[in-house]
Amino acid sequence: MASISLKKLNKSYGALTVVHDIDLEIADKEFIILVGPSGCGKSTTLRMIAGLEEISGGELQIGGDLMNDVPSKDRDIAMVFQNYALYPHMTVYKNMAFGLQLRKVSRDFIDSQVQDAAKILDITHLLNRKPKALSGGQRQRVALGRAMVRNPAVFLLDEPLSNLDAKLRGTMRAEITKLHKRLHATFIYVTHDQIEAMTMADRIVVMKDGHIQQVDTPQNLYDRPVNMFVAGFIGAPQ
Ligand code: ADP
Ligand code: MG
Repeated sequence: MASISLKKLNKSYGALTVVHDIDLEIADKEFIILVGPSGCGKSTTLRMIAGLEEISGGELQIGGDLMNDVPSKDRDIAMVFQNYALYPHMTVYKNMAFGLQLRKVSRDFIDSQVQDAAKILDITHLLNRKPKALSGGQRQRVALGRAMVRNPAVFLLDEPLSNLDAKLRGTMRAEITKLHKRLHATFIYVTHDQIEAMTMADRIVVMKDGHIQQVDTPQNLYDRPVNMFVAGFIGAPQ
């Protein structure tokens, strides 16, 4: 089970609080999107869930277990970043296999995991290439593949489409939605793009200045925004 619970979650850098008392219940297998302007605390929140950022206050629970002090590597989570973070000197295959190799599982298991993910993402023909010989969209598929090989219960995606052109972004939105259905995992997805949020999410979390403004389905946010900020943000043209 990968239900996730944030209870009064806080993050401060010195005297500066950038995430304020966030309360959020995310259901197992939900596709939830954190949206809001640059600097509002989306990535910081995601990084605390990933264990890449220390929690300053409050509680993080995954599947009912308190996770505040559990190291990142021991969380059943994979993260996909905006800049892909691929290893330039490794082939696509190696990039995808590397995390599993560190876990000392069998070579056959690693191979079948990489081949399965590559097939789903339609990158089998790219497995022997290096990242520099790939397009932006192909790199993003590899980054998704690297997350998939571990079969994590939770995927955290931080602006995964921001570096792609508008047309490819549209294609990848649909692909990621399909992937979510197929993988039976919980997806927490960060974007500043309201179109992405409105078209992909089961529920949207609108953030501003480290505070949650509203949590609701795209339809309800559109129909019944709680304040002018939410109305403006959701309704604003691209
Ligand atoms: P978002 O992802 O919504 O654009 P972030 O979570 O990256 O926002 O950042 C939230 C706030 O925290 C910003 O004001 C940012 O400047 C600040 N911040 C992020 N990382 C650090 C850090 N290591 N030290 C100090 N301030 C930081
Ligand atoms: Mg960010």
